[in-house]
This record gives sequence, structure tokens and C-alpha cells, in this order.
Amino acid sequence: MADYYPLIARAVAGLPQNTDEARRALYDRARNALVTQLHGKELSEPNIAHEQRTLEEAIRKVEMEVGGQSKSAAEEVNVRCRVCGHSNTISRHTPAFGTALICARCSKPLGLRVSNPREHPYTTSFDVQLWFGYKACSLLHARCPHCDETNYSIVIPEQAYNVPFYWNRKQENPNAAFVVNAACQHCKKAFVIEWDVDPR
Ligand SMILES: [Zn+2]
Ligand SMILES: [Zn+2]
Repeated sequence: MADYYPLIARAVAGLPQNTDEARRALYDRARNALVTQLHGKELSEPNIAHEQRTLEEAIRKVEMEVGGQSKSAAEEVNVRCRVCGHSNTISRHTPAFGTALICARCSKPLGLRVSNPREHPYTTSFDVQLWFGYKACSLLHARCPHCDETNYSIVIPEQAYNVPFYWNRKQENPNAAFVVNAACQHCKKAFVIEWDVDPR
């Protein structure tokens, strides 16, 4: 019986980028390699199953170690764009209000599929939590008041849909209770999203 743990641990340590994605790919390669290797030997089914279990145990052990280390160290996570496939590096921390969670390559929202570009679905905080692990924020797909193009996935407070809000070129209510500053993803001009009542 082989001890796969040192092999897997060494391979993980040698990864150019130690991401969840890279490790998953590495484990799949190891599983495939083991299957190929076991096919070459004349092993009985129980022996094959035993070898595979041993490999899975080694993978679990390595993952537990990585998880322990990365709790505070891994500040970033990779999110693959569902539209163009680009791998985006985003922070694990809840981003500031006004930040746009969009693909760096195609500017489409990260974490949700846009089936109809004319639809601008509001994204609930539950989805945001599910996709990114962020707390107390939601995503808004605002229209730029300068160029009229949709700005995807602007981070706003969690409760902000329940309170009337407006998007304007400049703040129009001098007594606005809460304002999110955004930069248009298309024409780059600044605009504001404002609430008469604080939605936080
Ligand atoms: Zn993209
Ligand atoms: Zn614009």
C-alpha cells in the first residue's frame, strides 16, 4: 500500500497558485493517474478500492491542512465568469458599497448568468452570500444616467431594495440619507445612487 500523502502534499506545495481550483484539478489528475496505474497491475477489486480510498484520505488530510492555513491567509478567491470563462480574482471580504462585481474581461456580472441582456434582475443578498460569501449587501444593476447603459452588480446595502432609491448624474436630494458613488462601467463617468431614507 502506498502512502499518497507526501506525494499530494508535495504536489500542492509546488503549485504556482494554490487555489481551490488548482488543487481540485491536481486531485483529479492524481485520481486518473492512480486508475491508469492500477489497471497496469493485476489487482483485485477490493485492492483497487482500497488504494483509491487511501488516495482520498491523503487528499482529505491535505485539504484540512490547507483549510487551516488559509482561514486568515486566503484573502482572495477565484470566480470564473459564466459568460466568457475568464478567471477573476476577488476579495473574500465584503466589498465597499459602489464596487462593481463584474468580470474584468467582459464586464458582465460575476456569479449570475445573463440570459436576456434587456432584463436587469435584482440580485438578492441571499444570492450574494451564496456566490461570494459576502454579508449585508446586495447587487443592483443600475442604468448609467449619462450613457443609459446597464451597470451590472453594483454593491449596495442589503435592505436597500425596500427603500425608494434613484440613480442620478449628481446627488439631487441634498438631504439624501444615503448615497452610493459609482463609476460607469461603459462611459467611466461618475454617477450616484441615492436613498431618501437610510437603507442600512
Ligand atoms: Zn467575462
Ligand atoms: Zn455611462
